[in-house]
Amino acid sequence: MQSPITRYLESVLDDCRALDGGKMADGNAELERADPDAFAVALVTVGGSVYAAGDCDVEFSIQSISKALAYALAVQDNGLERMLEATDVEPSGDSFNEISLEHSTGRPRNPLINAGALAVHSMIRGNSAQERADRVKDLHSRCAGRQLSTNDSVYEAEIESDDRNTAIAYLLKSVGVLAAEPVEVVDGYARQCSVDVSCVDLATIASVMANGGVDPNTGERLIGGAVNRHVLSVMSTCGMYDGSGSWVAAVGIPAKSGVAGAIIGVLPGQVGLAVLSPKLNGHGNSVRGVAVFERLSRDLELHMMHVAPSGASAIRQVTGEDTINVQLQGDLRFAGAESVLATLAKGIDARRGITLDLGHVQAMDDVARRLLDDAVSGLREDGHDVVIDDPHGLMTVLDPE
Ligand code: GLN
Repeated sequence: MQSPITRYLESVLDDCRALDGGKMADGNAELERADPDAFAVALVTVGGSVYAAGDCDVEFSIQSISKALAYALAVQDNGLERMLEATDVEPSGDSFNEISLEHSTGRPRNPLINAGALAVHSMIRGNSAQERADRVKDLHSRCAGRQLSTNDSVYEAEIESDDRNTAIAYLLKSVGVLAAEPVEVVDGYARQCSVDVSCVDLATIASVMANGGVDPNTGERLIGGAVNRHVLSVMSTCGMYDGSGSWVAAVGIPAKSGVAGAIIGVLPGQVGLAVLSPKLNGHGNSVRGVAVFERLSRDLELHMMHVAPSGASAIRQVTGEDTINVQLQGDLRFAGAESVLATLAKGIDARRGITLDLGHVQAMDDVARRLLDDAVSGLREDGHDVVIDDPHGLMTVLDPE
């Protein structure tokens, strides 16, 4: 049986196929030669399920989408504080290759426009353009779950058409935010942009980010939790260049676009998404890609501001006469733990015994753990007998970040 999700994705492509406005990328001879009609969408959940429709086997160069994980790698290599000295995290309101530098410091406005991405690339640990680019490719390969390769023709065409990036790199050197020589940085950045991927590769990479940096299939942590959160924040405000504001309003999914016509989207806790369609709008974002994301966001209620209340469902049931038994469930975070505290505060009165049953709780973050721990200590100080039934050891596990 074909999955209703796959059928739905196919219907979205069919509905959006009629939109054929926009222009192919210019400048890079290889990108100009790409099939303008290629159209694909892929969705990978944080449980590792893969759904795809359209031309999912077509490979294309990752281009600016690589800026997100390159930034993650540089933050991991240097620490956030050091990286914030190199590039700011403000939306520039300019297009991707604008010479958009902060007046007072000369810092690029953000790591997802070319100026910032060049500074970021220069700070990735490595002794040569090749080494830095290989480390970025390696991280993408690990997240995609297969070895990706560099497309030499795209790389050569990038180098042929890189005058503007070279100019930006020299400017960055002049204000002291480039950690290697401009020609080397432009070379490494061109290699970074020339890695071939498919839509499924991109959605798989996005699913790792949606899963907090942990590979949904292997459970291996590939990106630090705090770094992943930081990169997603910057994607949500800067990932679509000067189209970022309307993107957040209409789609509401942290995203990154590339000049080959792909867009990735990451909805934390739910899914990684990717669309390919090469014709671009005036912001340099795929015309059909934006339309598909608008549909997915609306139909599947994926807007990040559409949040189901988690607090009310934390308590499964409350039973018992002399001893009160509070059975919890689901993923406990601040709001859920708070509702447990509120219930305990209202419901215990003179009853001495309290059992907190965590058997149906799947996960608990540090905040929930601390709140419950404090509440239990307080109740014990007040003379209650509190038993925590914690078969999965959730009260003792530290967050893996
Ligand atoms: N390689 C391209 C450039 O630097 C990437 C730009 C993009 O994808 N928007 O010009």
